[in-house]
Amino acid sequence: MKTIGLIGGMSWESTITYYQIINETIKKKLGGLHSAKILLYSVDFDEIEKCQSSGHWDQAANILTAVAKNLELAGADCIVICTNTMHKIAPQMQKEISIPILHIADTTICQLKKAKINKVGLLGTKYTMEEAFYKERLIKQGIDVIIPDKENIDIVNDIIFNELCLGIIKDTSRKKFAAIIQALKNQGAQGVILGCTEIGLLIQQKDSVLPAFDTTIIHATSAAEFALE
Ligand code: GLU
Repeated sequence: MKTIGLIGGMSWESTITYYQIINETIKKKLGGLHSAKILLYSVDFDEIEKCQSSGHWDQAANILTAVAKNLELAGADCIVICTNTMHKIAPQMQKEISIPILHIADTTICQLKKAKINKVGLLGTKYTMEEAFYKERLIKQGIDVIIPDKENIDIVNDIIFNELCLGIIKDTSRKKFAAIIQALKNQGAQGVILGCTEIGLLIQQKDSVLPAFDTTIIHATSAAEFALE
């Protein structure tokens, strides 16, 4: 079994889910007392969030690249960055290490293709929804991306940073997400990417009128599968 290098803490609320799903997947495949070989480096999200909101992405890249190098040195066979947003700097990080970064958007694209979806709604932080780094990977694979309007982008982003990343789960926010997903459906989306690793803490399939693609579950499961390849 290969060793998975997790870069977590962004936020730690969703890193718990990664740890659980990876181990559950290994247990399902190997049975008995088997569990995953994991190295976890959990960062202080306050430092990372300050880099994001002040636009100092290079500084964030330096921090996470140093972490990735340490994980490689410690024996990791791959890197899993436990957040969609920080994949903005994944290409920079990949240049500095020789083990693969398992890209969260690429693993999600595989599942969208299996479901024959070619027009998808995307929910995530404002960086993930508005900037090109995430959407362009989908578009290159022939999948059209619909994002919410400006007002709803702010609502989704606020709920992520002011509630979900702090472990606050509110029914009123679930209703807001459900309405935003309905609006994406009205615009022709055939599915919705839960493109922030905390959204699954709020929204499950039963809350969504569209087939929901939870990036945390997809990413963690594919990391476990990589470990057994
Ligand atoms: N975990 C979130 C994501 O998947 C947001 C936290 C962050 O900005 O990294 O994008």
